[in-house]
Amino acid sequence: MAEAVGQLFSGARFGIGPTIQDGFYYDFDLPRALTPEDLPQIEGRMREIIAGNRPFVREELDAEAARRLFADQPYKLELINVLEQEGGTISTYTQDGFTDLCRGPHAESTGQIRAFKLLSIAGAYWRGDERRPMLQRIYGTAFATGEELETHLARLAEAERRDHRRLGKELDLYSIHEESGPGLVHWHPKGATVRRLIEDFWKAEHIKREYDIVYTPHIARGDIWKTSGHWELYRDNLYSPMDVDGQPYLVKPMNCPFHILMYKSRLRSYRELPIRWAELGTVYRYERSGVLHGLTRVRGFTQDDAHIFCRPDQLEDEVADVVEFARFMLGTFGFAEYDMYVSTRPEKYAGTIEVWDEATETLKRSLGRLGLDYIIDPGEGVFYGPKIDIKLKDALGRAWQGPTIQVDFNLPQRFEVMFTGQDGQEHQVVMVHRTVLGSMERFFGCLIEQYGGAFPVWLAPVQAVVIPIADRHLEYAQNVRRQLRVEGLRAEVDDRSLRMNAKIREAQLQKVPYMLVVGDREAADGKVSVRLRSGEDLGGQPLGDFIARVNGLAGSRATDKLW
Ligand code: ZN
Repeated sequence: MAEAVGQLFSGARFGIGPTIQDGFYYDFDLPRALTPEDLPQIEGRMREIIAGNRPFVREELDAEAARRLFADQPYKLELINVLEQEGGTISTYTQDGFTDLCRGPHAESTGQIRAFKLLSIAGAYWRGDERRPMLQRIYGTAFATGEELETHLARLAEAERRDHRRLGKELDLYSIHEESGPGLVHWHPKGATVRRLIEDFWKAEHIKREYDIVYTPHIARGDIWKTSGHWELYRDNLYSPMDVDGQPYLVKPMNCPFHILMYKSRLRSYRELPIRWAELGTVYRYERSGVLHGLTRVRGFTQDDAHIFCRPDQLEDEVADVVEFARFMLGTFGFAEYDMYVSTRPEKYAGTIEVWDEATETLKRSLGRLGLDYIIDPGEGVFYGPKIDIKLKDALGRAWQGPTIQVDFNLPQRFEVMFTGQDGQEHQVVMVHRTVLGSMERFFGCLIEQYGGAFPVWLAPVQAVVIPIADRHLEYAQNVRRQLRVEGLRAEVDDRSLRMNAKIREAQLQKVPYMLVVGDREAADGKVSVRLRSGEDLGGQPLGDFIARVNGLAGSRATDKLW
């Protein structure tokens, strides 16, 4: 593709062109803006290059030679300098006079490329930095067979149909405004209803599992973030300090230090442990604007956070319980498949190797005890301890970052978080940071895509729309709505002067599970004529029966049934 673009656009400057999951992209600095119409032309030129079956020839060279070769390619020169500093191998691949800087490996020749398609154009800052030039990115994909390519394209179309950013707007769930700032989510009433239902469920399940729910401040003195290490280690993700009474304060990037202060508000005996404190804590972290994405990469989000303070001998039980809890939560929301990762000690770490090994083994034992398979993610632990990540798979088989369970040796040490042991001595607690959903924002984004906006009955922001056939049925329709509300169901009346079929169509587009059509007969018999969002027409049902059935479904949190 880069060769084709180079041929079609003289003066093209090349950025990077990596492979990504299911495809590739390449960033270009071009004399003019690309349009979607350019893609077929580039594809055409690519086909010619492929038909030529030209060999890819690898060459390794030193930085000086590479700089001479790419003298008119400023982005490549920058990459060469980085490679030189890092001491990496500098290699190029050449086909038919076109040479690109690439680590490789490559196919043997262009003829090996079978089925490909260029998919889209996007703007992308050079190296993801909004202070650097905006380049033009072309996304594409390639497969060994045309059939695989078609399957993939169908899946992309389905993903596009389920895109939470599109559905968020169409279903009036949330918005993000340039005026208030990118990456900051506004929850509209319908999105907020889904969130409230998730939160209520979340709280109830935590209380069942002997967690206590707490609330903590949103800003705090700079000093506490110095003690915690965030000031130093997460500086790039913190918002600038604000001045309060002449002291620097920060907006919180995490909830942990607050829970620690509460723990330390008095002496704790071994008998009190484990202490489990849960908080739906809203945190703010700076992310570059180039990486922000709908609800999944944001600058402010609410973690479904909890900290467990326990003794070392309790860690295995606690971790196993959290994993079970996370699995229960995911299962309830209809996610049956997920991959578990155990991330081990990174290059930079706090604590000793012995303590790390012991904790890592504990995590593995907890998973082993539950009969769960896991993948080792070597060196991917946080600097303060090993962790378990659960990546859930949605209806299209795509992986989403979900719950995480992290063991921490660092903060208990930094803050001297102790308990009095049976021996009367002070011992350091083990701290576990965990979420069972991830964050409300990301989980909601994932949920929207999982269901394509057609939420299960228990989560649907509007469960039923009552549709009067004529104005004279409006009073009965309002009565039905009132009864549904009284019985705990979320219902609205569509009283606009539109045709009944138009109202049904709109309710279906809004993915409302039930449309209740009411006319003379329904009003006379105390019934509602039930249509499902799937299009199925169930005919007249006594209102009481409808309420009982839907409340039953909602109460059981069924994810796959409407009737
Ligand atoms: Zn934490």
